[in-house]
Amino acid sequence: MTTRSETQSTLDHLLTEIEHRNPAQPEFHQAAHEVLETLAPVIAARPEYAEPGLVERLVEPERQVIFRVPWQDDQGRVRVNRGFRVEFNSALGPYKGGLRFHPSVNLGVIKFLGFEQIFKNALTGLGIGGGKGGSDFDPHGRSDAEVMRFCQSFMTELYRHIGEHTDVPAGDIGVGGREIGYLFGQYRRITNRWEAGVLTGKGQGWGGSLIRPEATGYGNVLFAAAMLRERGEDLEGQTAVVSGSGNVAIYTIEKLTALGANAVTCSDSSGYVVDEKGIDLDLLKQIKEVERGRVDAYAERRGASARFVPGGSVWDVPADLALPSATQNELDENAATALIRNGVKAVSEGANMPTTPEAVHLLQQAGVAFGPGKAANAGGVAVSALEMAQNHARTAWSAERVEEELAAIMTSIHTTCHETAERYDAPGDYVTGANIAGFERVADAMLAQGVI
Ligand code: NDP
Repeated sequence: MTTRSETQSTLDHLLTEIEHRNPAQPEFHQAAHEVLETLAPVIAARPEYAEPGLVERLVEPERQVIFRVPWQDDQGRVRVNRGFRVEFNSALGPYKGGLRFHPSVNLGVIKFLGFEQIFKNALTGLGIGGGKGGSDFDPHGRSDAEVMRFCQSFMTELYRHIGEHTDVPAGDIGVGGREIGYLFGQYRRITNRWEAGVLTGKGQGWGGSLIRPEATGYGNVLFAAAMLRERGEDLEGQTAVVSGSGNVAIYTIEKLTALGANAVTCSDSSGYVVDEKGIDLDLLKQIKEVERGRVDAYAERRGASARFVPGGSVWDVPADLALPSATQNELDENAATALIRNGVKAVSEGANMPTTPEAVHLLQQAGVAFGPGKAANAGGVAVSALEMAQNHARTAWSAERVEEELAAIMTSIHTTCHETAERYDAPGDYVTGANIAGFERVADAMLAQGVI
């Protein structure tokens, strides 16, 4: 039987190898470190997991596709972007994970997201593997016609790699209902199939699940509430800072407000807004979802209670709760220090890997409840899997039914992470709990299915 320290040194060796084999992919290295640094206790305790090749297979995607995406802008000029789909692990079910359209997208970013997705999807208990994709296309400032032409060109290559039993993409940054519509239309045209289960996040009149747009934000708030309950508190009367102003941020603010908390901020890449009266969601949705505008317009139209701070750190705003809901590495050491100084009680990640490793360490040392994205934001992919189930049965569930299922899944994920952390001598450490619980489910399936 190997000891924890022997196991850790094997994992450290593997981490060095990952860095060499995957050069210039810092986000993927970070995600691999974050997981592999917590697995030593479970691998030491369960010798079958120490089998040579198991973790090595887990960190290597089953398939990676990179392709050219040519399209014409409104002036008739040909533009060329790069498309990606990383099919990371299908031991538990078809690859499942969103598409991100953002200029910062590259292979390393998609691999970090795909790697995280394996464990997140395992935690839902719903039989979905891990994958992720996207493009360095920037939808900001593009007309609907340009976005449509881009999506059609993207799908003209992607369609041959996906399918309801193979790989099921959804949205992520820069990919919402509009983009999913154009992507689905092109898939249907090329394949001549009404295959609703090939994409999730569809419109509600043509196969989309009720509550899917809300699911990631709602789920994260439910996870934060569960962490607070462990400490004998609830959301009523708590002040919350939320970053971002896209899909996840908007529905995080909506659920916080519904449960009696006061969400006082939102942001985008231009800066942040503080609204002492609490964010007015109708106004924010009008600006972001209808007009596709910037958050400074919110402060201009809201009146005296709100101000816009260009640039700056939203984490300087004093609050009981922080829910980062924009992008990776947006909450660093300085931000964590400011949050701790202002007495934050819980940080729950709506975005993927928004908190740097140094910041996670500081928050945990200070006794702040910390919910990692792979557990806290799993509500989105969970309801995507429920959308697949509805598509398969050619039926549509009521909003109440989907919300009940979402709440049950988030409670179960919280309990699993909490109990797993206790089992491995790390009480209250949701990072360790989520990584180990997700790993156990995937590793058991991989072992049973042989060396593939
Ligand atoms: P959206 O595109 O709807 O919104 C993204 C928001 O984050 C925008 O306000 C955007 O501002 C801001 N943002 C993005 N990149 C940056 C950046 N580099 N710097 C500053 N601000 C930035 O995306 P989502 O709300 O869907 O996704 C947000 C996060 O949640 C991502 O990390 C995503 O991976 C994660 N997530 C999403 C799920 C989903 O169901 N949609 C599921 C699980 C996780 P701007 O417009 O100025 O760029």
